Formats: sequence, structure tokens, C-alpha cells
Amino acid sequence: MVQPYPPGARRLGRPHAAVPCPACAELVGRGYPTCTSCADRVDAYWLADWAALLDAEGVVSGEPEERDLVARVFSAEPGAYPWTCTDWAMRLTVCPTCRAELGTGDTGCLRCAGADQSRWAWDYAAMPTSMTHNEHALRVTVAGLRAAHRRRDNQVAYWRLSLPFLMTGEPVSQAQAQRVRTYLLAGRTEELSTSQSFADMAALPDLPWRAPA
Ligand SMILES: [Zn+2]
Ligand SMILES: [Zn+2]
Repeated sequence: MVQPYPPGARRLGRPHAAVPCPACAELVGRGYPTCTSCADRVDAYWLADWAALLDAEGVVSGEPEERDLVARVFSAEPGAYPWTCTDWAMRLTVCPTCRAELGTGDTGCLRCAGADQSRWAWDYAAMPTSMTHNEHALRVTVAGLRAAHRRRDNQVAYWRLSLPFLMTGEPVSQAQAQRVRTYLLAGRTEELSTSQSFADMAALPDLPWRAPA
């Protein structure tokens, strides 16, 4: 059966530029998910899709029927619902094995690992039409930051630095991503965190002893 792959995170406009968060003073998104102000701004894209689904199904948020809807989303074929709704269904679900938010438990929890892994089939089937590379990066980044304790520090730092610019929809090339990762490994976090765009982060001057001959 051909699935519709309804796109996700397109109901709200994206910010034109990355701006400081009034609560944590970092660029909006960098405090995700601990800064509630950052989290609200990021999660709004997911919530808008979930609210639309509740509406379409005639379900009221917080009512028992929402649990049934979560179950339907999990048991559906990939592509039946927007990817944001799968993610939100996971948010609303406590892992029966480790009691963490489903998909965010420790590395040893197979149930969380399985739930996290199975959601990515959507992306590979839907890119680049029903999902842009930016939307995929946004999804990976947000999922990663919600399970940051499972990830290497450098990866988490990369996600935090990127998120404000992913939200604006700024395109990022492989080469730019690689440069930013290299600067992070070199410990240039302060310069990176004061850059005003991903392109700026990727355009930091090489340090003198790294300059090509
Ligand atoms: Zn914040
Ligand atoms: Zn778990």
C-alpha cells in the first residue's frame, strides 16, 4: 500500500534569524530541552501537527482517547502520519522497560533503542520531497538532544550549536558541517557560539598553525 507521507513541521513559519532566548540568553534552541522557553519554541512545530491530528480525529488532548491515538500512530505503517506525530507520540509514552520518555532511556534499554531506530525509516523514504534535509536534520538534532546522556559530548555540542540555525532553515553543506565539527574538536566553542549563522561558524579563520602551506 502506498503511504501518503504527510510532511511535518510545516504548519508554523520559521524564524528569519536566530535571536537570543529571553530566558537563557543563548540563541533560541541552544537551551533545548532544559530551558523551557527554548523548548516551547522548538516543540511548537511538533505540537502544531499533533494538535491538527487530534482535531482531525476528534480527540481532546489529555482524554483517554489520546492514548488510543498514540497506539494507532505506533502501529501504523511508516508514512501514514507526519514524522512529527510519531515523535510526539513517543513524548507522550513512558517506556515500559526503563520508565523514561520512550526513546530516551539509557543505552542498555532495548525498548528505547528499538523505538528510536524504527522512526527513521520515514525520513529515508520521504526525503527530499515530503521531508527536506533541513527537516531531517531538525528531527535528528531534537531527538538527539532529548537523549543527550547517550551521546558523545562533541556530538551534543554540535547539535546545540546547530539548532538555532536549523530552525531558520539555513541550508548547511557537508563541507560546512565538517568544518564546524573540526573546530569543535579543536576546542573553539567560544568563537562558534558567538557566530550569527551556520555559515559564520563554518567560516571561522583557520588557526595559524593549521593554515594550509
Ligand atoms: Zn532558552
Ligand atoms: Zn526505555
